Amino acid sequence: MKIVMIDITNACHHACSNCTRFCGQHPKPFFMDVDFFKKAVDSMEGFPGIVGIIGGEPSLHPQFEEMMDYYASRIPEPRPRAFLGTPTASFKDYGRMVRYMRGRKRGLFSALGPGYYKNFEKIQDTFAYQSLNDHQSISMHQAILVTRKELGIVDEEWFKLRDNCWIQNIWSATITPKGAFFCEIAASMDMLFNGPGGWPVEPGWWKRTPADFGEQLNWCESCSVALTVPANNANDDTDIVSPVIYERLKKVNGPKMQKGQFIILDTNNYDPSKYKGHEADPIWYLPQDKRDEARIAPVNTVLSPHKIDVAVRRGQSDAVTMSIDRVENLEFKDWIAIFRDPASVNEEFLQSAARCILNPGCLYSYKNTVWLFNRRALALRGVDKLPISSELQDLWENKKRIRLKVYPRIDINTRFERVAIKAKQIGSRAAFLVPVM
Ligand code: SF4
Ligand code: SF4
Repeated sequence: MKIVMIDITNACHHACSNCTRFCGQHPKPFFMDVDFFKKAVDSMEGFPGIVGIIGGEPSLHPQFEEMMDYYASRIPEPRPRAFLGTPTASFKDYGRMVRYMRGRKRGLFSALGPGYYKNFEKIQDTFAYQSLNDHQSISMHQAILVTRKELGIVDEEWFKLRDNCWIQNIWSATITPKGAFFCEIAASMDMLFNGPGGWPVEPGWWKRTPADFGEQLNWCESCSVALTVPANNANDDTDIVSPVIYERLKKVNGPKMQKGQFIILDTNNYDPSKYKGHEADPIWYLPQDKRDEARIAPVNTVLSPHKIDVAVRRGQSDAVTMSIDRVENLEFKDWIAIFRDPASVNEEFLQSAARCILNPGCLYSYKNTVWLFNRRALALRGVDKLPISSELQDLWENKKRIRLKVYPRIDINTRFERVAIKAKQIGSRAAFLVPVM
């Protein structure tokens, strides 16, 4: 496998149809213990591919930052991170830059959302590869919780299908708090149906071959990923399940069961010719002709500033929402714009900033007219009192001090245009790896 995952939580801000982690079916999410996570990371030493961090939505884990510090210390990333410095109105372009997998060792699988917003700087500093899908576009997920026996698939046919299962062949083994598993769906089923757990999380567990999979293969009997079954739009939040699985889910009694968010498949009239196989479906997972566009909706504003407080260094202004002494004491919660004086306060600048996606790890400035930065910036860690003077910028590393060239309008997309031109010139997708400083 090219990727092995670590499932650090199955909490998610979505509950998509037929989620591979069965989000919405669990009465309570898990959050992997930090010490266990460290053990999981250590167990992957020597693995030649990507060690992926996944959920649920992994950035919702309350110890996400601490975990990522350890992960970064143990898994070197040879490829440069794509650095988002210039404000952008189109996160889609950033998503394109971080989707190149080859040669990368770290990977994040995220549906964006509030956890990503909170951990934005750490994520950017850590991951060269990210698989992002905000699930706002149409996205087809095939049914997972259907048993082959209910569909009348006999052993001879089944073993061939199972051994050709696309998840097992092209996707991912995983580690959950219950151990290591040959397949992420098997791991999720073990979690949902209170199974016996996986293999011990010890160095080299991932070197097992199919001959070693043993009893974990029993989970395939409850799984329809290797079969031709219906799919539905992830945004419907409705799982397609077979009658036998439905009975099992009743015992679990999670939120989706309580809200009736499932469709029971009529297994007596199963006719695979009614469903498109993967290859034949123009919207298998995402629309095949516009996958990049579908991953991050242009209307998704979750990463734009949620709040920008305004202060002025000298004088009074009606625009002020926070006094300068409160700013000095770091009482702002999200973004703060500190203008030089009342005359430099500019509503257009603020509105433009609020519509863009900014890196909360950066200090944005235009000469001495305004500073714009975020309370969560790692540069502010351990700072008790902010110097509201030219010393302020010394808190940020050079790379994260962004001087905006156009004022009052923020110069959007410049960075990405330059990357795209470079890619065109040398005719290589690898050019998307080049961070433009
Ligand atoms: S965003 Fe991903 S993890 Fe969350 S519910 Fe949807 S498919 Fe599952
Ligand atoms: S059929 Fe087996 S290998 Fe394939 S996804 Fe299901 S559990 Fe995993």
